[in-house]
Amino acid sequence: MYDYLVVGAGLYGAVFAHEAKKAGKSVLVIDKRPNIAGNVYTEETEGINVHKYGAHIFHTNNKEVWNYVNKFAEFNRFTNSPVANYKGELYSLPFNMYTFNKMWGVVTPEEAAEKIAEQRKEITGEPKNLEEQAISLVGRDIYEKLIKGYTEKQWGRDCKDLPSFIIKRLPVRLTFDNNYFNALYQGIPVGGYTQMVANMLEGIEVRLDTDYLKNKAELDAIAEKVIYTGPIDAYFDFKLGTLEYRSVRFENELLDIPNFQGNAAVNYTDRETPWTRIIEHKWFEFGKDKNGNDLPKTVISREFSSEWKPGDEPYYPVNDEKNGALYAEYKKLAETEQNIIFGGRLGEYKYYDMDAVIASALELTKKELQ
Ligand code: UDP
Repeated sequence: MYDYLVVGAGLYGAVFAHEAKKAGKSVLVIDKRPNIAGNVYTEETEGINVHKYGAHIFHTNNKEVWNYVNKFAEFNRFTNSPVANYKGELYSLPFNMYTFNKMWGVVTPEEAAEKIAEQRKEITGEPKNLEEQAISLVGRDIYEKLIKGYTEKQWGRDCKDLPSFIIKRLPVRLTFDNNYFNALYQGIPVGGYTQMVANMLEGIEVRLDTDYLKNKAELDAIAEKVIYTGPIDAYFDFKLGTLEYRSVRFENELLDIPNFQGNAAVNYTDRETPWTRIIEHKWFEFGKDKNGNDLPKTVISREFSSEWKPGDEPYYPVNDEKNGALYAEYKKLAETEQNIIFGGRLGEYKYYDMDAVIASALELTKKELQ
């Protein structure tokens, strides 16, 4: 009998499992995929750590979390500065003086602020949705060229039907600062995320290719308590209805050239290009292999966003009102279940960043393992 069965070997599950073992508990971690590390999984190809389920750039303001992850990996000095490609015009992201200069020819912060102030006049009152929030932050020109197409591709919904908090993730700055994140600490784990998660799970029994929901009775019988990090609606066999998720499909290519786009991330912000962005993985580690040599080839991933359907991997919860209300119902149901805790992006139906997921798992360990 295990003290804990952890369902899902992603960050939430790995952090909990690590802490539980440290506290002297017996733990079994299972995952239905053939690999650990959930969506942060990386796999080496030609010396390049490829982010198989999409780009993950670790960033946080939480010192406890930063110190925590540094116990399991060394982090490099990567700083995310994506480039937006709108029909061949390139703009710096996030929205900053480089972006404003390219868009409007403005040179000083004062001129940029004036331009934004003029364009935001069309929004009166509190922004009600993502479109209004975006225009109120950066004006209509930037909304039309850098936000609308990308957002509608990523979410498959009109910007008027999306919650405004999504766009508040992006900084707006009147300085020449291309750092995408407002975070004190940022980097990519040297050697890849898979190695970092493997270090968290060291000494812990892990069974891959093991589907909890398909073998629930059997698996429940071998543990006192379950930490479940899968989709909450799937746990309840969708009995109140299905929560909506966005899924992502990647087309990966190994190219026999050293440099495809000169940056880790290029976002295609027009509506017509079918992919949302192209990731060139080698730039997360400055184009070098583990011995510091320049890599001769490159791996790129085109990212296509789609509505989740059964059989796909869920990536993003669609945190609009309708889904929020349904999740609240599932959460009530979850509270009536015995000996199970729901956690992580899918278990809590929340657009968590990696650091927030780790903070949330650590929070749980403090309550659960004392
Ligand atoms: N976004 C945008 N244009 C961009 C990049 C981002 O409008 O070029 C908006 C878009 O609404 C998106 C949100 O910012 O859904 C968050 O994007 P981010 O790339 O941070 O999301 P991730 O996929 O990395 O979680």
